[in-house]
Amino acid sequence: MRIADVLRNKGAAVVTISPDATVRELLAGLAEHNIGAMVVIGPDGLVGIVSERDVVRRLHTHGASVLSQPVAKIMTPAVVTCTKSDTVDSLSVLMTQNRVRHVPVIEDGKLAGIVSIGDVVKTRMEELEAEQRQLQSYIIQG
Ligand code: AMP
Repeated sequence: MRIADVLRNKGAAVVTISPDATVRELLAGLAEHNIGAMVVIGPDGLVGIVSERDVVRRLHTHGASVLSQPVAKIMTPAVVTCTKSDTVDSLSVLMTQNRVRHVPVIEDGKLAGIVSIGDVVKTRMEELEAEQRQLQSYIIQG
């Protein structure tokens, strides 16, 4: 299964945020959309990614003052990305090696979707269930 198949099911929508938005606005957006990370987009395109984990770490080290800081201060600027032609298996390796749970999909230099570790697990479960059904019908027919 490829990333293109995952996006066909879940859609290409990506919730993004400006690097100038405050961490308080980021938290409101994460809660509103029920997500764990947002892609940070500046005037010239993708500049980073920020996840709930960044907020938790900064809250621990800097306290509540982080809420008024810009997202640019806590985001990760070096973004690990994938393409639609990558396989879900290779993405799960990428996520494990880089210890990230969200990977934006880039196609022709543009943001074309985002895949979370939840999407990877759901896809793998569906694949395993389909394989199990095939095996059961093979055994019953045989
Ligand atoms: P996550 O596991 O996705 O919640 O993110 C854990 C840490 O990795 C946070 O510091 C994120 O900013 C960072 N991160 C998340 N996704 C990516 C990504 N695709 N590329 C680079 N860093 C990321």
